Amino acid sequence: MNYPETKFPNVGLTIFSKMSALAVERGAINLSQGFPDYDGPQALLDSVALQVAQGHNQYAPMTGMPQLCSAIAKKVERLYGRSVDANTEVTVTPGATEALFAAISSTVRLGDEVIIFDPAYDSYRPAVELNGGIPISIPLLPPNFAIDWQRVRDTITPRTRMIIINTPHNPTGQVLSSADLDELERCVAGTDTLILADEVYEHLVFDGLEHQSVNRRASLAERSFVVSSFGKTYHVTGWRVGYCVAPAPLSAELRKVHQYVTFNTHTPLQCAIADFMQAEPDYPQTLPGFFSAKRDRLARGLEQSRFKLLNSSGTYFQLVDYTSISDLPDDQFVVWLLEQAGVAAIPLSPFYANGEQTGCVRLCFAKQDETIDQALEGLCSI
Ligand code: PMP
Ligand code: GLN
Repeated sequence: MNYPETKFPNVGLTIFSKMSALAVERGAINLSQGFPDYDGPQALLDSVALQVAQGHNQYAPMTGMPQLCSAIAKKVERLYGRSVDANTEVTVTPGATEALFAAISSTVRLGDEVIIFDPAYDSYRPAVELNGGIPISIPLLPPNFAIDWQRVRDTITPRTRMIIINTPHNPTGQVLSSADLDELERCVAGTDTLILADEVYEHLVFDGLEHQSVNRRASLAERSFVVSSFGKTYHVTGWRVGYCVAPAPLSAELRKVHQYVTFNTHTPLQCAIADFMQAEPDYPQTLPGFFSAKRDRLARGLEQSRFKLLNSSGTYFQLVDYTSISDLPDDQFVVWLLEQAGVAAIPLSPFYANGEQTGCVRLCFAKQDETIDQALEGLCSI
């Protein structure tokens, strides 16, 4: 038997899987892959058990449980002032990951260009390439990782099918401003370019800043897939429940992929999340205080270290510059750091198509205070 040649010569194991496996193997403190080391709200966890016991265990509707779609529509209206139809414009998916894949697969054709800002979350580029699209990278560089909008204007062509934005941004912790959305509006005005807005960290925005959802702007929303994830909002990344809000014609296309990739999303989890959203609509408002306290704890501790901190305004990630400690490339530095400090981090270069070396690595602070303190001991010892 001759196995077929790989379709994906450039795809290996993701950096998240690699670093988490290394952390487990070496018994290191894992600040690499982004997930909390504590549980979500008890009422939500209890509700899942109840939903299972009550028999909510069969297939959910392809587009999502009606009560969850309604709760999502209500939230979008309340927070961003956009009225969306729960039946035709909201689709619940097993994680934001599937929503991103379905949005890209349902619209990107052979030869279409897709603008991606690097460093970019790792799932975008392979999905574009799998569909015959051409990723066009625009680099964002430290310390601010700001978007050069003139460069975006110069990069858009009649073949630009889609622009992918991510705010708050993984891995840099930057958030787009209202002025950025003004620029985005100007860039796409008069074009048929779609926007894929990855807003999975929409509730993790700090220092009094506001999340600039594209759902706030009618002229952007009419051409956007807006993707979010309950994994981030409720500290349950392993549940993998996400969703996409998009105008009916775009949602209809996305559903054509979604219905044959997974068809639907775990029923008892959807029921539990819908109940929790109804009972605790303001829960997301607790997140900026909760997470910025963790960010600040890590930052205060790192004052005693040789790392230099970059600004983190959102997500649960903190970038640190290690250039006064080492001149190793970042993928080698994280291995050295694991061995010397017992702490796992994520290098930035895998998020750049050209493997850019920024001298920075990413630390996840969605951890119990004790975990952060233990990590600090290691990070301050080198
Ligand atoms: N986009 C970004 C920027 C992320 O950090 C993540 C987290 N894994 C995802 C998408 C995927 O979210 P989910 O776990 O809901 O699939
Ligand atoms: N989003 C998570 C991170 O950035 C990881 C998700 C994954 O493991 N694929 O760390």
